Amino acid sequence: MSETIFTKIINKEIPADILFEDDRVLAFKDINPQAPVHFLVIPKKAIATTNDIAQEDEALVGYMHRIAAKVSADLGVANDGYRTVMNCNKHGGQTVYHIHLHVLAGKALGWPPYQSKLKIE
Ligand code: 5GP
Repeated sequence: MSETIFTKIINKEIPADILFEDDRVLAFKDINPQAPVHFLVIPKKAIATTNDIAQEDEALVGYMHRIAAKVSADLGVANDGYRTVMNCNKHGGQTVYHIHLHVLAGKALGWPPYQSKLKIE
């Protein structure tokens, strides 16, 4: 898999506003926030898309959700709540091909999160 900007953030080659880090994951503020609170939780292991999550990654992906909850609590938004999103490939709006959990919070978020004329049969 080719290196992404997130590998550079993990390797501290480019700066990020880091909220949590350990040997498995990194959480940092999104550079282009879509809500008053918007951070990303990424695995240090480079996995390109959610289609590429292997059986051996199941615990890691669960851990990403636990860190999303922990950081949300640290930021004081866990009780009011938040939204987690993982975009996959072009129709999902993925732009960085290293899986990441978006965590959006700080206001009541609308639903559905898109405008679509698509009719689901
Ligand atoms: P995607 O569109 O792939 O689901 O989300 C990628 C996210 O990464 C976007 O929300 C974008 O703002 C964020 N992002 C892209 N480059 C950088 C960067 O260099 N630093 C930070 N902190 N966020 C980034």
